[in-house]
Amino acid sequence: MLPQKFLDRMQQMLDGEYEAFISTFGQERYQALRLNALKTGLNGNRASELPEAFPGLGFAHLAEVPWAENCYYYDASDQPGKHPYHAAGVYYIQEPSAMAPAELLEVRPGERVLDLCAAPGGKSTQIGAKLKGEGFLLCNEVNASRAKILSGNVERMGIINAYVSNETPEHLADIFPEYFDKILVDAPCSGEGMFRKNEAACEEWSPENVGMCAGRQDGILDCAARMLRPGGRLVYSTCTFAPEENEGSVLRFLRRKPEFRLLPIEKGIFGEACCDGKAAFLGDGGLPCLEHTLRLWPQRVKGEGHFAAVLEKAGELPDEYSNPSLNGFVTGASEKKLTAYRQFCQEIFGKNEIPLGREGERSYLRFGENLYMVSGRFPSVKGLRILRPGLHVGTLKKDRFEPAHALALALPPGQAKHVWNLVLQKASKQEGFHEQGVSGFQQSAAAYLNGQTFPADGEKGWYLVCVDGFAMGWGKLVGGMMKNHYPKGLRIPM
Ligand code: SAM
Repeated sequence: MLPQKFLDRMQQMLDGEYEAFISTFGQERYQALRLNALKTGLNGNRASELPEAFPGLGFAHLAEVPWAENCYYYDASDQPGKHPYHAAGVYYIQEPSAMAPAELLEVRPGERVLDLCAAPGGKSTQIGAKLKGEGFLLCNEVNASRAKILSGNVERMGIINAYVSNETPEHLADIFPEYFDKILVDAPCSGEGMFRKNEAACEEWSPENVGMCAGRQDGILDCAARMLRPGGRLVYSTCTFAPEENEGSVLRFLRRKPEFRLLPIEKGIFGEACCDGKAAFLGDGGLPCLEHTLRLWPQRVKGEGHFAAVLEKAGELPDEYSNPSLNGFVTGASEKKLTAYRQFCQEIFGKNEIPLGREGERSYLRFGENLYMVSGRFPSVKGLRILRPGLHVGTLKKDRFEPAHALALALPPGQAKHVWNLVLQKASKQEGFHEQGVSGFQQSAAAYLNGQTFPADGEKGWYLVCVDGFAMGWGKLVGGMMKNHYPKGLRIPM
């Protein structure tokens, strides 16, 4: 049951289109996934090219989402959440309209990017893929339990150059003044665009809650403004229809922060059906520049309702811009503590480093037993609640090293010396893998993800257990059995 006051406002906003809008509530939602370019190497491929490039994927109904790179609609019968590629981070399941804001951020490798309201991580992992392992991504989530989910998704998608934090925007703004090149504020909102998906959002809705969300958005945007460097780009997005939280938030922001301006959004890729927010804004004092904003309407596009605006901060970057955070830069652990880790690297990679990050620029951070790797000049984590300071490479026990699940998921196909590859695709193009058995491959991948051990022959030691060359996790071969090191908390019932 949609709230009457919501319906009244939508009727006023949409007029002749109201009936079409309402009818979307009775229709099936569009579902989509984003192929992970960090793992697949595929970039901008047509859906028709995927079956050949990627035989193991096996989904019959993929079609491109026109406004986002590597994103494809699928059919519910494809069930991508149950495919072993999902656990291996080959793709991320994401609502199609929600794919737009990270595209609008125009992220380039090497940049410093902040995703301020990041959980569960759809847009963070999208940004992570665009950074291609170069630069720095801070994925922040204020809610502690949601921050853990975010951290798990950053891990699954194999992102090596990210911190995951659980901070308030205010505290981050104190530590990172004018630090970031790009900031995404995918704001907490009244979620009207999610009414079809999430009944709770519908039950919690009230005009008062819309007003409360708008006030909270003002505070978050002000923090983001402080953290953006001169000339930097800020994308603001919501999944609500409420003008107060969309065009209204942008207008109030522009009035408070005259150093910002709205940039036009190239609307062509969203199809003729998409429109700007000027017409939708019913409040008084609307500005012509609101035509630069983007509204995705469910009756017009194949996706849920979404709003986005691109803002730019005035000023230019000085030639020598290395602005550290107020925390300074990270300092690495001493080499003396890394002996067991170096031995592990020799065993698995045939050299004393992991094949990730930049040569000569890796630093290691130690937190108790846990070892993390960053590549480049990353900010110190002093005084911040950080769940994941870079890539978790493993744990240092007394005189041995145990590799982390995150390390397995970040390794490109074929990098480890010992790989146990389970093959789903009919004709594997991967070479040099130890391929197991003749039949029941899918069953074997599912058994591994379920936590089962299996008989295996070969040299003893750590093995990267893969599906079609995509790492799912670690196994340890001892006495003819592959011990399963897939994390207990992630195991999937069969
Ligand atoms: N960007 C995410 C994605 O693509 O997966 C979705 C983010 S969701 C729309 C908004 C997030 O903002 C929620 O995870 C919520 O916990 C968080 N949030 C709530 N209150 C907040 C606040 N005061 N400051 C910052 N974030 C907040």
